[in-house]
Amino acid sequence: MTTQQKERVEATGVFFAGVCEVKLDERCETKGGKPRPISAIWLMNQGKRQVDVCKFCMDEKINRGDWILD
Ligand SMILES: [Zn+2]
Repeated sequence: MTTQQKERVEATGVFFAGVCEVKLDERCETKGGKPRPISAIWLMNQGKRQVDVCKFCMDEKINRGDWILD
């Protein structure tokens, strides 16, 4: 993801083992590429495109204002 525009997102509430797609920085929980319990959100401005994301990256995106949680 290179866009910096704000995205409306909706939490799916689903948790599963996987690798984070956001990988914001070294604090990303799956930076090493090892699957961990993560969740998924939907990008509502992109036709509900699903993005798998770790807890750290989700909180950080929301704190930065990149994601507006519906
Ligand atoms: Zn992450």
